[in-house]
Amino acid sequence: MKPETLLIHAGRSVDAATSAVTPPIHLASTFERAPDGSLPHGFVYTRFGNPTRQALEQALAALEGGVEAAAFASGSAATAAVLQSLAPGQRLLLPRDCYNGTANSVRQVFAHLDAQFVDMTDLAAVQAALEPAPALVWLETPSNPTLRLTDLAAVSSLAHAAGALVVCDNTWATPLGQRPFDLGVDLVMHSTTKYLGGHSDVLGGALITKTATPWWQRLKQIHVLAGAVPSPFECWLILRGMQSLAYRLRGHCANALAVAEWLAQHPKVEAVHYPGLASHPQFELAQRQMLLMGGMVSFEVVGGAAEAIAVAAQVKLWTRATSLGGPESLIEHRATLEGPDSPTPPALLRLSVGLEHSDDLIADLAQALAVL
Ligand SMILES: *Cc1c(COP(=O)(O)O)cnc(C)c1O
Repeated sequence: MKPETLLIHAGRSVDAATSAVTPPIHLASTFERAPDGSLPHGFVYTRFGNPTRQALEQALAALEGGVEAAAFASGSAATAAVLQSLAPGQRLLLPRDCYNGTANSVRQVFAHLDAQFVDMTDLAAVQAALEPAPALVWLETPSNPTLRLTDLAAVSSLAHAAGALVVCDNTWATPLGQRPFDLGVDLVMHSTTKYLGGHSDVLGGALITKTATPWWQRLKQIHVLAGAVPSPFECWLILRGMQSLAYRLRGHCANALAVAEWLAQHPKVEAVHYPGLASHPQFELAQRQMLLMGGMVSFEVVGGAAEAIAVAAQVKLWTRATSLGGPESLIEHRATLEGPDSPTPPALLRLSVGLEHSDDLIADLAQALAVL
């Protein structure tokens, strides 16, 4: 079935007990055994598994095209589970411009791993870093916040030739915008906090496996034993949000393209980063790899950090906040969030383009840029 249909039906069914069309939220933390000690529905205790979480996991696996999914309490918890599956001293490669929370987790919590940050857009650099062979290659594309792309098929094939497993953080592209499993990736990670939840009201994360492997069994063990699981209510909110994902994304993508095209011709804008613009340095790769160009745009104003912060200070309709994927448009001076060691250009503003009318979004940016 097509993603639009899976989003409405996967993991969901009319409730057998009540005929309720919308699935109930099973808040129970524990489940009764039959007199003979068996478990009539297979559930024991909610950390191990819960009907509402199971519904979300089935929907996520179906949507991404994998065989199984595990839902976590946040995207960062899903990332941590992958890192926990590596033994101390094991080598892994990550993108130099990966989500700064992932980089901070690797540096500050998983410092016992042998991590190397690589420019994943440079296949020669990737090839060089695969010697000595890592256990894992972590990918994230488009990157945050400069929207550079990694060629998933090319890097997966180099990594597999070196014997490494490949993970892709598919949060920004979404399962509708990019199909990592078709391009050779072994495991997909999501922050479901973003487009999948879609309403800026819940945190969540997920891992989805392409095939059932011993590594997946290990990840599932970490999932329930380390216990970074979401509550049933959070699972329900994400499932609810996912139903409208296909149609929300159409709006996000159309608005993002309109905003990016408008910014690209503005005299106070130095650079615009959006894979849907023909001026993007990897436009050809974007056309080949991405089905949708997404709702994230970043741009650099003429000047530096002070000018960028001054523009952000002037917006009235856009909200100055971090995160992405909700209906409301957000603007963020990313270097402020990332702190003094941030590699992000100081004049860069990151936009999560929401679902308002693009004319109103552009008018507000126009009056804000007039401050320069
Ligand atoms: C937000 C985000 C994360 C972290 O997810 P949380 O749900 O905030 O823990 C990881 N990767 C990307 C690309 C993100 O945007």
